[in-house]
Amino acid sequence: MTKMHKKLLCGLLLVIAGGIWYYFGLVQEMAKGQNPAGASVSQTPANALPKAGPDKAVALPAGIPVLMYHSISNEPDNDAVISPKLFKEQMQFLYKNQYTPISLDQLYSYLNGGRDLPAKPVVITFDDGYRDTYEIAYPVLKQYGFISVLFIPASEIGQRLSAAELAEMKAAGMEIASHSYTHRDLSTLSRQEQLAEIVKSKEVLDRLLSQDTRHFCYPYSGYDPATLEILKEKGFKLAVTTTPGWARPGDDFLLIKRIWMGNSVDLSRFEERLTRENYSIL
Ligand SMILES: [Zn+2]
Repeated sequence: MTKMHKKLLCGLLLVIAGGIWYYFGLVQEMAKGQNPAGASVSQTPANALPKAGPDKAVALPAGIPVLMYHSISNEPDNDAVISPKLFKEQMQFLYKNQYTPISLDQLYSYLNGGRDLPAKPVVITFDDGYRDTYEIAYPVLKQYGFISVLFIPASEIGQRLSAAELAEMKAAGMEIASHSYTHRDLSTLSRQEQLAEIVKSKEVLDRLLSQDTRHFCYPYSGYDPATLEILKEKGFKLAVTTTPGWARPGDDFLLIKRIWMGNSVDLSRFEERLTRENYSIL
Protein backbone atom coordinates (compact mmCIF):
# COMPACT_ATOMS: atom_id res chain seq x y z
CA MET A 1 0.00 0.00 0.00
CA THR A 2 1.39 3.38 -0.97
CA LYS A 3 1.51 6.32 1.42
CA MET A 4 -1.20 7.91 -0.66
CA HIS A 5 -3.45 4.84 -0.22
CA LYS A 6 -2.87 4.81 3.55
CA LYS A 7 -3.85 8.48 3.79
CA LEU A 8 -6.97 7.85 1.74
CA LEU A 9 -7.93 4.83 3.90
CA CYS A 10 -7.39 6.78 7.13
CA GLY A 11 -9.48 9.65 5.78
CA LEU A 12 -12.22 7.24 4.76
CA LEU A 13 -12.25 5.57 8.19
CA LEU A 14 -12.45 8.97 9.87
CA VAL A 15 -15.37 9.95 7.64
CA ILE A 16 -17.19 6.66 8.43
CA ALA A 17 -16.52 7.06 12.19
CA GLY A 18 -17.72 10.63 12.07
CA GLY A 19 -20.82 9.55 10.16
CA ILE A 20 -21.63 6.84 12.70
CA TRP A 21 -21.08 9.30 15.59
CA TYR A 22 -23.32 11.87 13.89
CA TYR A 23 -25.98 9.24 13.12
CA PHE A 24 -26.29 8.05 16.73
CA GLY A 25 -26.31 11.62 18.01
CA LEU A 26 -29.19 12.38 15.67
CA VAL A 27 -31.13 9.29 16.74
CA GLN A 28 -30.73 10.30 20.38
CA GLU A 29 -31.95 13.81 19.68
CA MET A 30 -34.98 12.44 17.81
CA ALA A 31 -35.76 10.10 20.67
CA LYS A 32 -35.67 13.00 23.15
CA GLY A 33 -37.87 15.06 20.86
CA GLN A 34 -40.50 12.32 20.69
CA ASN A 35 -40.50 11.78 24.44
CA PRO A 36 -39.37 14.92 26.26
CA ALA A 37 -39.93 13.29 29.65
CA GLY A 38 -38.16 10.10 28.60
CA ALA A 39 -35.09 10.59 30.76
CA SER A 40 -37.01 11.27 33.99
CA VAL A 41 -39.51 8.46 33.35
CA SER A 42 -36.74 5.90 32.91
CA GLN A 43 -35.15 7.02 36.18
CA THR A 44 -38.39 6.76 38.22
CA PRO A 45 -39.46 3.28 39.36
CA ALA A 46 -43.01 2.47 38.35
CA ASN A 47 -44.03 1.92 41.98
CA ALA A 48 -42.70 5.27 43.27
CA LEU A 49 -45.90 6.99 44.39
CA PRO A 50 -46.00 10.53 45.75
CA LYS A 51 -45.49 10.60 49.50
CA ALA A 52 -48.61 11.18 51.55
CA GLY A 53 -49.85 10.94 55.12
CA PRO A 54 -47.07 10.90 57.68
CA ASP A 55 -44.99 13.59 55.94
CA LYS A 56 -47.94 15.94 55.68
CA ALA A 57 -48.38 18.17 58.72
CA VAL A 58 -52.08 17.88 59.63
CA ALA A 59 -53.12 19.43 62.91
CA LEU A 60 -55.61 17.02 64.46
CA PRO A 61 -57.44 18.01 67.62
CA ALA A 62 -56.76 16.01 70.80
CA GLY A 63 -60.49 15.49 71.15
CA ILE A 64 -63.78 16.69 69.73
CA PRO A 65 -66.51 18.37 71.80
CA VAL A 66 -69.93 16.73 71.38
CA LEU A 67 -72.59 19.19 72.57
CA MET A 68 -75.74 17.81 74.19
CA TYR A 69 -78.95 19.84 73.96
CA HIS A 70 -82.43 18.88 75.08
CA SER A 71 -85.28 21.41 74.93
CA ILE A 72 -84.67 24.94 73.59
CA SER A 73 -87.29 26.99 75.50
CA ASN A 74 -87.84 29.36 78.40
CA GLU A 75 -87.86 27.25 81.53
CA PRO A 76 -85.35 28.93 83.87
CA ASP A 77 -85.55 26.34 86.66
CA ASN A 78 -84.68 23.36 84.45
CA ASP A 79 -80.99 23.16 83.61
CA ALA A 80 -81.57 20.57 80.88
CA VAL A 81 -83.32 23.40 79.04
CA ILE A 82 -81.65 26.30 77.30
CA SER A 83 -83.33 29.57 76.32
CA PRO A 84 -83.76 30.30 72.58
CA LYS A 85 -81.71 33.48 73.10
CA LEU A 86 -78.69 31.68 74.59
CA PHE A 87 -78.93 28.87 72.03
CA LYS A 88 -78.84 31.42 69.18
CA GLU A 89 -75.86 33.19 70.79
CA GLN A 90 -74.00 29.87 71.09
CA MET A 91 -74.62 28.99 67.42
CA GLN A 92 -73.52 32.48 66.41
CA PHE A 93 -70.38 32.00 68.53
CA LEU A 94 -69.57 28.77 66.66
CA TYR A 95 -70.12 30.50 63.33
CA LYS A 96 -68.09 33.63 64.14
CA ASN A 97 -65.23 31.56 65.55
CA GLN A 98 -65.18 29.28 62.50
CA TYR A 99 -66.16 26.03 64.15
CA THR A 100 -67.41 23.35 61.75
CA PRO A 101 -70.15 20.99 62.96
CA ILE A 102 -69.40 17.43 61.78
CA SER A 103 -71.51 14.27 61.49
CA LEU A 104 -71.29 11.18 63.71
CA ASP A 105 -69.84 9.31 60.70
CA GLN A 106 -67.04 11.89 60.57
CA LEU A 107 -66.55 11.55 64.33
CA TYR A 108 -66.38 7.75 63.97
CA SER A 109 -63.76 8.07 61.24
CA TYR A 110 -61.69 10.45 63.41
CA LEU A 111 -61.89 8.07 66.40
CA ASN A 112 -60.66 5.33 64.06
CA GLY A 113 -57.56 7.33 63.13
CA GLY A 114 -59.03 9.21 60.16
CA ARG A 115 -57.29 12.49 59.36
CA ASP A 116 -59.85 14.10 57.08
CA LEU A 117 -61.35 16.69 59.41
CA PRO A 118 -62.35 20.33 59.01
CA ALA A 119 -60.73 22.92 61.26
CA LYS A 120 -62.32 23.29 64.72
CA PRO A 121 -64.76 20.36 64.52
CA VAL A 122 -67.70 20.07 66.89
CA VAL A 123 -70.75 17.78 67.04
CA ILE A 124 -74.19 19.26 67.87
CA THR A 125 -76.74 16.79 69.29
CA PHE A 126 -80.34 17.09 70.48
CA ASP A 127 -82.07 14.47 72.63
CA ASP A 128 -85.72 13.40 72.80
CA GLY A 129 -87.26 15.20 69.80
CA TYR A 130 -88.95 18.22 71.33
CA ARG A 131 -91.27 20.41 69.27
CA ASP A 132 -88.75 23.25 69.69
CA THR A 133 -86.02 21.22 67.98
CA TYR A 134 -88.04 21.77 64.79
CA GLU A 135 -89.46 25.22 65.55
CA ILE A 136 -86.45 26.95 67.16
CA ALA A 137 -83.22 24.99 66.71
CA TYR A 138 -83.73 23.89 63.10
CA PRO A 139 -84.17 27.42 61.60
CA VAL A 140 -81.04 28.63 63.45
CA LEU A 141 -78.99 25.64 62.27
CA LYS A 142 -80.20 26.23 58.70
CA GLN A 143 -79.24 29.90 58.92
CA TYR A 144 -75.63 28.96 59.64
CA GLY A 145 -75.56 25.87 57.41
CA PHE A 146 -74.82 23.64 60.44
CA ILE A 147 -75.36 19.90 60.42
CA SER A 148 -76.47 18.17 63.64
CA VAL A 149 -77.90 15.00 65.17
CA LEU A 150 -81.30 14.31 66.73
CA PHE A 151 -81.75 11.25 68.97
CA ILE A 152 -85.43 10.37 69.10
CA PRO A 153 -87.38 7.58 70.84
CA ALA A 154 -88.92 5.92 67.78
CA SER A 155 -92.31 5.15 69.41
CA GLU A 156 -92.85 8.90 69.92
CA ILE A 157 -92.68 9.79 66.23
CA GLY A 158 -96.00 11.37 65.31
CA GLN A 159 -96.47 12.94 68.74
CA ARG A 160 -94.24 16.01 69.17
CA LEU A 161 -92.60 15.63 65.76
CA SER A 162 -94.07 14.07 62.65
CA ALA A 163 -92.25 11.72 60.29
CA ALA A 164 -92.51 14.44 57.60
CA GLU A 165 -90.82 16.99 59.89
CA LEU A 166 -88.04 14.51 60.67
CA ALA A 167 -87.57 13.84 56.95
CA GLU A 168 -87.45 17.59 56.28
CA MET A 169 -84.78 18.14 58.96
CA LYS A 170 -82.83 15.14 57.72
CA ALA A 171 -82.82 16.55 54.17
CA ALA A 172 -81.39 19.80 55.62
CA GLY A 173 -78.49 18.00 57.32
CA MET A 174 -79.83 16.77 60.67
CA GLU A 175 -79.08 13.09 61.24
CA ILE A 176 -82.01 11.28 62.89
CA ALA A 177 -80.64 8.57 65.19
CA SER A 178 -81.99 6.18 67.81
CA HIS A 179 -82.86 7.07 71.40
CA SER A 180 -84.40 3.60 71.92
CA TYR A 181 -88.07 2.80 71.25
CA THR A 182 -89.94 3.92 74.40
CA HIS A 183 -87.27 5.93 76.27
CA ARG A 184 -86.88 3.62 79.27
CA ASP A 185 -83.67 3.23 81.26
CA LEU A 186 -82.17 0.18 79.53
CA SER A 187 -80.15 -0.82 82.62
CA THR A 188 -83.46 -1.66 84.36
CA LEU A 189 -84.67 -3.98 81.56
CA SER A 190 -84.05 -7.64 80.77
CA ARG A 191 -81.83 -8.56 77.83
CA GLN A 192 -84.92 -9.46 75.75
CA GLU A 193 -86.58 -6.13 76.54
CA GLN A 194 -83.42 -4.24 75.68
CA LEU A 195 -83.12 -6.13 72.41
CA ALA A 196 -86.70 -5.14 71.52
CA GLU A 197 -86.06 -1.47 72.43
CA ILE A 198 -82.98 -1.31 70.22
CA VAL A 199 -84.20 -3.41 67.27
CA LYS A 200 -87.66 -1.82 67.07
CA SER A 201 -86.22 1.70 67.17
CA LYS A 202 -83.86 0.89 64.31
CA GLU A 203 -86.58 -0.77 62.24
CA VAL A 204 -88.94 2.20 62.61
CA LEU A 205 -86.29 4.83 61.80
CA ASP A 206 -84.92 2.79 58.89
CA ARG A 207 -88.39 2.38 57.39
CA LEU A 208 -89.68 5.93 57.94
CA LEU A 209 -86.52 7.66 56.81
CA SER A 210 -85.14 5.13 54.28
CA GLN A 211 -81.85 4.87 56.14
CA ASP A 212 -79.56 2.46 57.95
CA THR A 213 -79.57 3.74 61.56
CA ARG A 214 -76.13 3.16 63.15
CA HIS A 215 -75.97 5.61 66.06
CA PHE A 216 -77.59 5.41 69.47
CA CYS A 217 -78.17 7.46 72.61
CA TYR A 218 -78.96 5.77 75.96
CA PRO A 219 -82.11 7.15 77.65
CA TYR A 220 -81.07 8.50 81.09
CA SER A 221 -77.55 7.36 80.14
CA GLY A 222 -78.58 3.89 81.40
CA TYR A 223 -76.84 0.78 80.04
CA ASP A 224 -75.30 -2.48 81.18
CA PRO A 225 -73.00 -5.06 79.52
CA ALA A 226 -76.00 -6.59 77.68
CA THR A 227 -76.84 -3.21 76.11
CA LEU A 228 -73.34 -2.88 74.70
CA GLU A 229 -73.40 -6.46 73.37
CA ILE A 230 -76.73 -5.93 71.62
CA LEU A 231 -75.62 -2.65 70.04
CA LYS A 232 -72.47 -4.37 68.73
CA GLU A 233 -74.43 -7.36 67.43
CA LYS A 234 -76.87 -5.09 65.62
CA GLY A 235 -74.08 -3.14 63.92
CA PHE A 236 -74.29 0.17 65.79
CA LYS A 237 -71.13 2.24 65.33
CA LEU A 238 -71.35 4.97 67.98
CA ALA A 239 -73.44 5.39 71.13
CA VAL A 240 -73.43 8.55 73.24
CA THR A 241 -73.71 8.99 77.01
CA THR A 242 -74.07 11.99 79.33
CA THR A 243 -70.58 11.44 80.80
CA PRO A 244 -68.82 14.82 80.59
CA GLY A 245 -65.74 15.32 78.41
CA TRP A 246 -64.57 15.30 74.80
CA ALA A 247 -64.64 12.39 72.33
CA ARG A 248 -61.09 11.11 71.93
CA PRO A 249 -59.32 8.43 69.85
CA GLY A 250 -59.01 5.37 72.09
CA ASP A 251 -62.47 5.87 73.61
CA ASP A 252 -64.98 3.03 73.57
CA PHE A 253 -67.15 3.76 70.50
CA LEU A 254 -70.26 2.86 72.51
CA LEU A 255 -69.45 5.17 75.44
CA ILE A 256 -68.92 8.56 73.81
CA LYS A 257 -68.79 11.49 76.23
CA ARG A 258 -70.84 14.64 75.70
CA ILE A 259 -70.85 18.19 77.00
CA TRP A 260 -73.89 19.28 78.96
CA MET A 261 -75.68 22.34 77.60
CA GLY A 262 -78.13 24.36 79.66
CA ASN A 263 -78.83 27.91 80.81
CA SER A 264 -75.86 27.75 83.18
CA VAL A 265 -73.52 27.49 80.17
CA ASP A 266 -73.17 31.15 79.25
CA LEU A 267 -70.91 32.23 76.39
CA SER A 268 -67.70 32.27 78.42
CA ARG A 269 -68.41 28.78 79.81
CA PHE A 270 -69.40 27.69 76.30
CA GLU A 271 -66.02 28.81 74.98
CA GLU A 272 -64.25 27.05 77.86
CA ARG A 273 -66.04 23.77 77.07
CA LEU A 274 -65.00 24.03 73.42
CA THR A 275 -61.37 24.88 74.09
CA ARG A 276 -60.41 23.14 77.37
CA GLU A 277 -60.88 19.42 77.67
CA ASN A 278 -60.81 19.62 81.48
CA TYR A 279 -63.44 22.35 81.57
CA SER A 280 -65.02 23.26 84.87
CA ILE A 281 -68.13 21.27 85.78
CA LEU A 282 -70.82 23.40 87.39
ZN1 LIG B 1 -83.78 11.27 76.54
